Amino acid sequence: MVGCTTVPETGRSQLNFISPAYEFSLGKAVFADVKRQYPASRDTNAIAMVTKVGQRIASVANLPGAEWEFVLFESSEVNAFCLPGGKIGVFTGILRYTKDEAGLAAVLGHEVAHAVAHHGAERMSQSMLIGLAGAALEAAISERASSRTAAAAAAAFGIGMIIGVELPHSRANESEADRIGLLYMARAGYNPAEAVNFWQRMGEQEKGKKSGPWFLRTHPVGEQRIEDLKKWMIEAQLQYRPRGNEVK
Ligand SMILES: [Zn+2]
Repeated sequence: MVGCTTVPETGRSQLNFISPAYEFSLGKAVFADVKRQYPASRDTNAIAMVTKVGQRIASVANLPGAEWEFVLFESSEVNAFCLPGGKIGVFTGILRYTKDEAGLAAVLGHEVAHAVAHHGAERMSQSMLIGLAGAALEAAISERASSRTAAAAAAAFGIGMIIGVELPHSRANESEADRIGLLYMARAGYNPAEAVNFWQRMGEQEKGKKSGPWFLRTHPVGEQRIEDLKKWMIEAQLQYRPRGNEVK
């Protein structure tokens, strides 16, 4: 049962009892739940942008076996996610903050990085270890996803909003997703400097508010986050190859 895997790009060893096939099946089940709860957007321009940015980030992501899918959901909630197996969801509410393709690439780079680094599986593995996820462990052994397991998975994958459970990623996982995400957006042809601008715009929303949007509560913007992004910027800029067709 003991499993250890290595995170691409950072080389960190992580605890992971969950096979990618099982993780992907949970990702699909959770994505189906989101599709049942939120209508798809009909804004053809915005859909085209999400698909384009999503495909460009996916093309540089190291996620073997992924079946990529990009959906823009109509919702004022400020949120975006990438589930295991490459299921990307963007809520129209976050487009106010991403502003343009590069801003969206910063978000999707970060979210795809969580999926590539198997942070959801890592979090489920940790909770199994401390005995908090008996049902998930049972299901992992039987490789069968029940709806209860899908709910636990939704929380572990960082999109507990569909079941009302808020479970922010650990600071370490957030930091790792920031670093990998920065490299992905640069390789996908988007200026990584825009990631700093995006997080600063989000951070402005945090000030003086008791309860900000979901994405901010699960992704708090502290000074450390901005400082770290600046620290990794030289490495990311070296990998930045502009493609010259960004829509501003
Ligand atoms: Zn995150």
